[in-house]
Order: sequence, then C-alpha cells, then structure tokens
Amino acid sequence: MEKSALVLFSGGQDSTTCLAWALSRYTKVETIGFDYGQRHAIELDCRPRVLNTLRKDFPEWSERLGEDHMIDLSVLGHISDTALTSEAAIHLNENGLPNTFVPGRNLLFLTLAAALAYRRHITVLVGGMCETDFSGYPDCRDETIRALQHALNLGMETHFDLQTPLMWINKAQTWKLADDLGGSSLIELIVEETHTCYLGDRTRRHRWGYGCGTCPACQLRANGFEKFKG
Ligand code: ZN
Repeated sequence: MEKSALVLFSGGQDSTTCLAWALSRYTKVETIGFDYGQRHAIELDCRPRVLNTLRKDFPEWSERLGEDHMIDLSVLGHISDTALTSEAAIHLNENGLPNTFVPGRNLLFLTLAAALAYRRHITVLVGGMCETDFSGYPDCRDETIRALQHALNLGMETHFDLQTPLMWINKAQTWKLADDLGGSSLIELIVEETHTCYLGDRTRRHRWGYGCGTCPACQLRANGFEKFKG
C-alpha cells in the first residue's frame, strides 16, 4: 500500500477508470498524458476537468492524487498516417487492422512513462490496455505488455510493474468496475467529463455520455453502458 503509481491518463473512459483503480490502491498517484497530434484534442481538454472533479468530489483520493505530466509527442503524428492523426475516414487496412491503429503508440507511451517514473522513483505503471475489446490492436495484447515490461526492466535495470486492470474485462465490466470503485458519482463523472468518440463529437449527449454514437469507439462505449445498466 506504500507504493506509488504513474497512470497513463488520456481523459477517456478507460484511463479514468484506471486512475480510480490506482487511487484506491496506491498512496501516491501521478498521471501522464501525451499530445501526439490527435485529430481531435477534445480528449486532452477533458483531462484537467476529470482531474479537478476527482479532487473536488473524492476527498479520500484527492490527497493521493499528485502531479500531472503532459508530454509533447507531436513527432508521432508526423510519422503516422492514421485516422486518429489525419482526416482519413475510418476503415480496415489490408492487414485487417483498423486505420485508427497508431503504430508504436502504446510502446512509446509506456517507454516514456517508464523514463519519467524512473526519475520520480515510481515503480508501478498503470495503463488501460485491454485484450477483450481491443479492435485487434497488437500493442494492447497482454503478451506485448509483458514483453515490454521485461525489456524496460532489462534496459533500465529496474523492477517496473506494468499493471493493466482492464486487460481481461469487457466494456460493460469496465463500467461496473468504475461503479465498484467510486459509485454513482464516478459513473456520473465518466459520463459527463470523459471522451471516447473517434470523431471528437461533443454536441450529442447520450445516456452514456457525449459522442457521435456511430463510430466504433462510441458503439463500444454505448453497448457496454447498456449492458452494465441491464
Ligand atoms: Zn463517435
């Protein structure tokens, strides 16, 4: 319980649930976010609002919530040609992967998070990677994360522990996990303040939050919410 953790925090549903998970387990929790030239920076705008609401509505967690680190990773947008970093429409590539896949993204995120954690004497890294609803993203696989943990620990002579609390659960169970951790106030925070939509639509409000309602990310979030509500 004395451990500190660094959470990869994008301002979306998954990473907000991971942040709540970490706050319920570790005495000191810091957050890291990346600006990689996302087509829509709306998710990044959600980050400070989520952090402020957590500080305001969850006094127990507020004491544990430490520094937020924002990293400029615009170079990733320059070398990637994906539907998340350009105006391309979302479709499946020839290899069967959706063009929302940003090659190397999670590998870079975790490596940079580890470099920061090293400096701040943090050993636990928390990420929202999930193999259950992973759209086929190979860098969300448990095997990838385990291999990266091994590489980081070899390369930095450290004992990093990469935690992925969402790895084996689906979106309905992610909503349930948030409910278990923070009750209806956390569900409300996630609905109102987090953002998942690939198209960056915040003009339409649904039961499950804001979004276009039709992109793959919205569909996953909406279906999960309806199942969670039963
Ligand atoms: Zn959408």
